[in-house]
Amino acid sequence: MYLLADVNSMYASCQEIFRPDLKNKPIIVLSNNDGAVVAMNKPAKALNIKRGTPYFQLKAIINRYNVTSFSSNYALYGDMSARVMATLESLAPKIDIYSIDEAFLHISGIDACEDLHQYGHRVRATVKQMTGLTCGIGIGPTYTLSKLANHAAKKWTATNGVVVLNVRERQRKLMALTDVEDIWGIGRKLSVKLKSLGINTALQLADANMQYINKMFGIVTERTVRELNGMPCISIDMPSSKQQIICSRSFGEKITRIQDMKQAICQYAERAAEKLRQEHQYCRHISVFIRSSPFSNDAYYSNNANQVLMLATNDTRAIIAAAMRGLKQIWRDGHRYQKAGIILNDFCSRLGS
Ligand SMILES: [Mg+2]
Repeated sequence: MYLLADVNSMYASCQEIFRPDLKNKPIIVLSNNDGAVVAMNKPAKALNIKRGTPYFQLKAIINRYNVTSFSSNYALYGDMSARVMATLESLAPKIDIYSIDEAFLHISGIDACEDLHQYGHRVRATVKQMTGLTCGIGIGPTYTLSKLANHAAKKWTATNGVVVLNVRERQRKLMALTDVEDIWGIGRKLSVKLKSLGINTALQLADANMQYINKMFGIVTERTVRELNGMPCISIDMPSSKQQIICSRSFGEKITRIQDMKQAICQYAERAAEKLRQEHQYCRHISVFIRSSPFSNDAYYSNNANQVLMLATNDTRAIIAAAMRGLKQIWRDGHRYQKAGIILNDFCSRLGS
């Protein structure tokens, strides 16, 4: 079983926490040079403000509806993300951080001691209490089904933000109501092709012939079909979305020497930089985090450091150097570190822009 926790409107919500006077009012977050919208909260979405819209095109709406705009603050989002992830880590035996505001919790066996609904609400309430942020919770037997559950938790307010898909009947019922485009990994382009073949809902895709799907769309889509049918077959290695790249691991053997930690962080930085180049992107913000285990008897330590670069880069050496500066700030001797990672943020597609 997996639980996907995903913070609602992460960037805008982080801003809102420090401006309670803006509760339920429209908020937008702008890109580095204040050129375009990178995020918005629910009231701003309701005004039909879309991500990527140039700021100057919005001046009329902003004045008319009293929309508050913020310059993006990646150090703040990085700090809040680290708090969310540390909270989630204390609630499950293992988590995979998927993006700055999403993580999959591995929760097999938890239903033996706690009802999954109750557990989902407890996770949600704890994140809210510890960070002030609200997240949607989806629980399912595969990554894809927990994503689907999460999507439903956010879409339908009657769910109170938690959807559990542990029974096949419920999975089928929800899939029948879900557009094929809204399935994780399908996307717009592929959904157009699927619809031309009469596959309009998630359920129709789940029931499609797997060999046929493989022949038409390849192994990746076949895996999605398997996952919709409750068979786990997707592994999450290093996820990336257009907005950040995360590389993190739990250590098999706990790290106690800075030399070993440097080596681990260097490896992550290298892989993250490689991924960045594959995506033809450059980043300006690098965050490093280290944590001891929340489950051991030792004193718990968790910290993160943010490095903002003057010029955007995708050069491995520059990224490693920034990561090492960050590590130096947060390293404390005497802890047994269980996890570390690096997050690249604030992307642009041109060098130094
Ligand atoms: Mg989110």
